Amino acid sequence: FARLRRRLSGSQNALARALADLLSVDRIDSDVWDDFEATLIASDLGVGPTTELTEALRKQLAVEGVADPEAARKVLRAELLKLVDPTLDRSLNLASGDDDPAVVLVVGVNGTGKTTTVGKLARVLVAEGKSVVLGAADTFRAAAAEQLSTWGERVGVPTVRGPEGADPASVAFDAVSRGAGERADVVLVDTAGRLHTKVGLMDELGKVKRVVEKRATVNEVLLVLDATTGQNGMMQARIFSEVVDVTGIVLTKLDGSAKGGIVVQVQRELGVPVKLIGLGEGVDDLAPFDPEGFVAGILG
Ligand code: GDP
Repeated sequence: FARLRRRLSGSQNALARALADLLSVDRIDSDVWDDFEATLIASDLGVGPTTELTEALRKQLAVEGVADPEAARKVLRAELLKLVDPTLDRSLNLASGDDDPAVVLVVGVNGTGKTTTVGKLARVLVAEGKSVVLGAADTFRAAAAEQLSTWGERVGVPTVRGPEGADPASVAFDAVSRGAGERADVVLVDTAGRLHTKVGLMDELGKVKRVVEKRATVNEVLLVLDATTGQNGMMQARIFSEVVDVTGIVLTKLDGSAKGGIVVQVQRELGVPVKLIGLGEGVDDLAPFDPEGFVAGILG
């Protein structure tokens, strides 16, 4: 929590900067509002949420005649929290049958941090006392299975992998079977993220899901998004959500030059909550997304 706050309040965060700038002026006139809106849009908040936030602030600051930065900060905090939506259920659904493990498919474009997220999530689950099996269903990238196995060894859980070029669905199926055989609690499946064509992706991910469902229920489909990729990331998110029923978003690289506002935009567009955030490359750099902490981090 403290780490998130430290990392988000870094000078890189455009949303944090916009709010700080707004609070630092003596008199908020229309130029200031224009700048504020422009910066919010640049911070990946999206046009709709930007307009809502600005309108709400304008109204409240006018009504209450707020010149006092502390009072304005309070209004900001409340409005921003509303946009992030603290009422969404962000818990991971890991309920499993008597014999079947819970299955989590991790999807997203290559390079967003999928494999790393699977490794970190395995670590979290193991720390909670759960037994975990990893499935290396990204069989297209030569190094992907190797990378996942390394994570598995680091965290102390087995990794099921197939030969390079194997059918991703069959590797995923094998991983779930192995999980069931070992009475594991959770199977985490790392998938391929080639976004060459929507149809190709749909065939591939759709098949992975269908085949896994012959063996067990898919509890979660987590979409991994690189928070630093802005509108490009949003476009990827749309495509994936059309292809599979995404149940939660993992926003990675929020420690870097991410702009923060993407949290609001992606939740709005996909109608799915951000459940986890990535705050670095290390094994412990995954955290549940906490709306209050996020807003506190942005407002400093
Ligand atoms: P994949 O291709 O989607 O499986 O992506 P990887 O898991 O291989 O990650 C791509 C790169 O992003 C690697 O160098 C990771 O160490 C890095 N990475 C992943 N998550 C984070 C994060 O939360 N913060 C930072 N700074 N880097 C990350």
